[in-house]
Amino acid sequence: MKKEVSLSLKCPNCCESLMDEKHLIEDKPSIKINIETEHERGVLRLCCLYGDGSKWTDVAMNDGDIVDMFCPHCNHELSIKENCEVCGAPLVAFFIKAGGTVRICSRNGCTNHHIVFKEVSEETSKLYYEYGF
Ligand SMILES: [Zn+2]
Ligand SMILES: [Zn+2]
Repeated sequence: MKKEVSLSLKCPNCCESLMDEKHLIEDKPSIKINIETEHERGVLRLCCLYGDGSKWTDVAMNDGDIVDMFCPHCNHELSIKENCEVCGAPLVAFFIKAGGTVRICSRNGCTNHHIVFKEVSEETSKLYYEYGF
């Protein structure tokens, strides 16, 4: 049986929760983000289970489109000055309530994502590896 790790994320700028308890994905609160493509603005919801690529959006996107992501509370742009090592698009970062940062790629269709811990102790990384990260 696959172990599931659900992440509770917040905005790195205003620290408001990005979790939306009213809209569930895979029976868990979804992560709600405002997005903007070249043509449209809308809402993107991500599954909070780490490694699960399920998402919902009201914006028409093509595979390969780079999407700008913004906090729905403070409108802070969530992309950071680092690029995805797989496809070169900007990475987007969220704070994890329990500590650390999760980074995802802003390109639609690229599944690159990883977690960065503030202090990576062997103990912690071992724990997370056991959970399949
Ligand atoms: Zn914010
Ligand atoms: Zn990428």
